[in-house]
Amino acid sequence: MMGIDFERADSGFSDDLRIAATGAVRGLSQLVLRADVSGMPLEWIDYKEAARLYTQEQVAYTCGTRLYTLVGGVNALSGRRTVLEINSIVATVGHTGNPGSTRHDYVPPLNNQTLFRRDAHICLYCGLRFATRELSRDHVRPFSQGGLDTWTNVVTACRRCNNQKASRTPEQARMQLVAVPFTPTYAEYIFLKGRRVLADQMEYLLAHFPRSSPLHARIQRWLS
Ligand SMILES: [Zn+2]
Repeated sequence: MMGIDFERADSGFSDDLRIAATGAVRGLSQLVLRADVSGMPLEWIDYKEAARLYTQEQVAYTCGTRLYTLVGGVNALSGRRTVLEINSIVATVGHTGNPGSTRHDYVPPLNNQTLFRRDAHICLYCGLRFATRELSRDHVRPFSQGGLDTWTNVVTACRRCNNQKASRTPEQARMQLVAVPFTPTYAEYIFLKGRRVLADQMEYLLAHFPRSSPLHARIQRWLS
C-alpha cells in the first residue's frame, strides 16, 4: 500500500500524492504516529518527542518500519554509545488524555483543512477535485435558514458551486450532493490531520476506521 502526502494534496499537486514507504522520508520532518498501549491511535509526534518517549522508557512496543537511527553520546560507565532506533508507529504506556478513546460521542474540531481532506478535495456539488485555495466551506442548510456549523452540515465546495448555491438549501438551488457529510471518528481525524502519512501508518489507521467509513473509498480515489 502507498502512503499519502496531504501537504501536496492541499496545494494541488494531485498527480503526485503517492509516496513510497520510508524511501521518501526527507530529513527529520517525517512524523511518528503515537498510539496508546491498547493500540488506539493518539497523535502525531516529531522525532524529538519520540526520542524522549524512548529514553523515558514509555514506549511499550513499536510497529511499522524504522524511520530514524539517532546516535547519542557515550555512556561514561559502559563506554557504549547510545543508539536510538525510532519506528514509524510507537505505542506508549501511561495515561493518554485521548478524548476519542474514552468517549464515543467525541466530535473533532472543525476546520477547513480537515474538512477538505475529509472530502478528498472534491467539491461535493460538481464532483471535481480542486486545490485548497480554490475550495470553500459550504453550509448545506445555510445559516440564514437555521443551519449549524457542524461536520454533518458542512461540505467542501468549489467557489463556483458555492456562489451558485448561495443562501439556499441544495433542494432550493436544484443542486445535488455527491456524498453525505459525516463527523470523523478520532482515528479518522488523526489520519486527516497528518502531513505525510506513510504506507504503514495509513494501514494502521485504516484498521481503526469504522468499516462503513466513506474514507476507505476516498483513499482509493486519492491514490488512483
Ligand atoms: Zn463545484
